[in-house]
Order: sequence, then C-alpha cells, then structure tokens
Amino acid sequence: MSAPELSTKTQVCIIGAGPAGVIAAYLFSLRGVPVVLLEGENNFDREFRGDTFHASSLEVLDQLGFADDVVKLCNSKVGQLNFKTSEYSIQVADFAGMKSKFPFVGIIPQVKFLNYMVRKAGALPDFNIIMRAKVKELKQVNGKNSGVKYKKDGEEFEVDSLLTIGADGRGSTARRLANIKLGKTSPPMDVLWFRVAIPKDAELQESVDIRVGSGSMVVMVNRGDYIQCGYIIMKGSYKELRNEGIEHFQNEIISLAPELSSTIFGVSDWKQCAILSVVTGSVEKWYQEGLLLIGDAAHIMSPVGGVGINYAIQDAVATVNILADAIKEERLSTDDLAKVQSRREPAVKFIQGFQLFAQKRIISSALKSDKPFSPPLPLRIVSKISFMRKRIAKFLAYGKCPERVEGL
Ligand SMILES: Cc1cc2nc3c(=O)[nH]c(=O)nc-3n(C[C@H](O)[C@H](O)[C@H](O)COP(=O)(O)OP(=O)(O)OC[C@H]3O[C@@H](n4cnc5c(N)ncnc54)[C@H](O)[C@@H]3O)c2cc1C
Repeated sequence: MSAPELSTKTQVCIIGAGPAGVIAAYLFSLRGVPVVLLEGENNFDREFRGDTFHASSLEVLDQLGFADDVVKLCNSKVGQLNFKTSEYSIQVADFAGMKSKFPFVGIIPQVKFLNYMVRKAGALPDFNIIMRAKVKELKQVNGKNSGVKYKKDGEEFEVDSLLTIGADGRGSTARRLANIKLGKTSPPMDVLWFRVAIPKDAELQESVDIRVGSGSMVVMVNRGDYIQCGYIIMKGSYKELRNEGIEHFQNEIISLAPELSSTIFGVSDWKQCAILSVVTGSVEKWYQEGLLLIGDAAHIMSPVGGVGINYAIQDAVATVNILADAIKEERLSTDDLAKVQSRREPAVKFIQGFQLFAQKRIISSALKSDKPFSPPLPLRIVSKISFMRKRIAKFLAYGKCPERVEGL
C-alpha cells in the first residue's frame, strides 16, 4: 500500500512492525485475514536491537518454510553460554547439546529478519504495510476501540478495524492511549552496548561469554564479523562512568576481557555506545474491547537470556492461532482476547521470574561487590552436570509454553 487512502477499512490493524507485529501480520494474512501494519519509522535499521533467535522462533519459521533462508542470515550460531571470573570459567547453558533441529542461538541482525519477513508477506494479497505511519490516536465507537488515526509525512489518515493490535514495543503508544498501566520493575542495572572489532589471531568460540570482575561485568556476543559487548553498570551510573573518561572505560573492559586490548581503543567516543535503561514489567490486562497488546507492549523483557524477540514472536503465533477464525467469521469477542492473555501470560511471568532471580542473585551481587566475584553455588553445580546445562539451554530456547502455528 504505497499511497494510503485517507480512510482505510480492514479487519486487523497492527501498530508496530517489530518481531511481534510482523509475524502477526504475516500469519493473519496467510489465514486470509486482511491486515494493515503501521510502522512509525522509515526502515527497520536500528542500532543495537536484539538479535538472538532461539530454537522456538526458528521452529516457527521452519513451519512456514523460511528457516533455511533465515538461518543463512545468521552472523553466528551460539552454542554455549559461559560465565568467567578471574577464578572460574564455567558453562551454564549448552545449546549445542540440546535435542533440537536448531541446537544453537542464531545471531541474526533484526533488520535483516524484518526485511525478509516483510518481503515474504508482500506476496500475500491480504497483507498491507505502511511505513512512516505514526499512530497518534485510538478511534472509539460507543466505548469500543475501532481503529486508529496516524500521521504520515505531516498528513493525517485513519484505519477502521475490527481489532487493533498494539505491537509497538516497550514505550507503546497504544498502551498509553488506552490508559493501560504498566507495572514496572527497575532491575538494578543499565547496559552500555558497543561493538569491538575481532582481534587478529583471536580464537573465539561461537558463544556468549559473561565476564565478571570486581564490581563490573561485560557480556560478549561473537557476531562473526565483530563482537557485540554489553557493559553492565549500576542503574543510573552512566553519567559517573562518562565523567571518569573513555580511557577509564577502555581499561575496565581490558581488565575483564584482556583479549580485546588491541581493539577496544577503536571505541574512542561515547557516541559509539548506546545506553539501554533496563526496565521490565507487564500490564495487568492485555486487552480492551477491540484492542490487544502483545510483545514488549504487554510485557517489557529484561535482556537476561536474550529472549525478548522470541516471546514477541510466540505472542504473535498464539494471537493468530486463537483469533483468526473468530475475526474471519466476524464473531470476535473480548473473551477471545482474554484467551490470548491466559495462554501467554504464564510463560511470560515464568521467564520474568527467572530473569529477576538472575538479576538479584548474580548481576546485582556482582556489581555491588568490590571483591572478586564467585558464582553462586547453584550455578557452579549446574556447570558440572551436562544434563542440567542442556536443561537450562532448553528452558531459554523454548520457555514454558512454546507455540506452533496452527491452521497451515
Ligand atoms: C538495546 C536492546 C537490546 C536487546 N537485545 C535483545 C537480544 O539480544 N535478544 C532478544 O531476544 N531481545 C533483545 N531485546 C529485546 C527485544 O528487542 C524486544 O523484546 C523485542 O524487539 C520486542 O519485540 P516487539 O515486536 O514487541 O517490539 P519492538 O521490537 O520494540 O517493535 C516495536 C515497533 O513499533 C514501532 N512503533 C512504536 N511506536 C509506534 C507508533 N506510535 N506508530 C507506529 N509504529 C510504532 C517501532 O518503530 C518498532 O518498529 C533488546 C532490546 C533492546 C532495547
């Protein structure tokens, strides 16, 4: 839909073309449900967006016949999650050992994935996407949500729909406009993302390494052509870090990861870093009459475990499984929307509970300590038992309630 009508009618209007919105739009179109997908930005190119695709997401794509193509988009395939301190080097999750068609975490730049999916969806007659379409208002008729008003290139447009889906991420406009309150928790940390060139002669495994020092911590993801690093700092301490100067920061990284000593100096300006204020939370009710929130709009995920994209995709699959027929037959009720929440919420709460535990027991105590950190006993025990390492990998990869696409 290159030149939108001032007013468009459709069955489903989705706000936000992130992983949740794009997958939901693709699947609705595949089921013959007309969709208008509105994306506020001009493209999908965002620096430091999540890019870890677990087996549960790859299996969904496999069902659609896309897994081979998508796996080719991987910058790398992560087999292990390792935890290293000055005294310990332990493996806590063994993805390579999982019984799965996809025994790895695919590191796929989100921009490539979204472009691929939108290209595929473009072949379906019921799929319509409008870029640079910023939703500004929810339309209501007799107290029921009935579509949106959006702005594109300074002009105002409207979409009338049976169902509006807010898939517009952590700062969701749909959530705010519908006056749905987000119950937030502020984990004790913020993350400074930056990328470092891979040092010549470095023998890097395809793994995610967590390095912990005295009061400091960095997560390193080998992305094939560079290393993506997340330097974890106490919440609100970014200003202090900047005041100490970039050299101090470079030295901190070298003390955690000496193998980066030849390339960390490539990060010489704070502009090369992006600070993520870590927030987690969820809304109590994911829906109102005619409106449903999914993905980060319904539950903001902590970066722990790199699962946010995967939960967004699983929400989208469940949404279409539960609602497609009711929408097609124009018998959609608020009870149907409640079924989406009942299906997905337990899995979300479970992983958020796990993330909270990891944040408190590992990250918080590591950041607060000025002594060399020793991993908690349960983690050390897990690292010694192969079966447990595979179980943890499987839990991160699939969660409590992996979804499969129905109606194919
Ligand atoms: C820095 C960072 C690193 C992360 N790393 C990882 C990781 O490694 N692995 C992982 O699994 N997760 C990661 N996450 C979390 C992950 O990105 C999210 O959980 C996931 O993207 C949620 O998908 P979503 O589709 O719900 O929302 P989003 O991906 O946030 O997509 C929302 C879309 O809505 C659009 N939008 C917003 N407002 C409007 C509007 N008013 N009108 C129209 N469009 C609008 C936005 O432009 C965006 O395209 C990370 C998050 C951040 C911020």
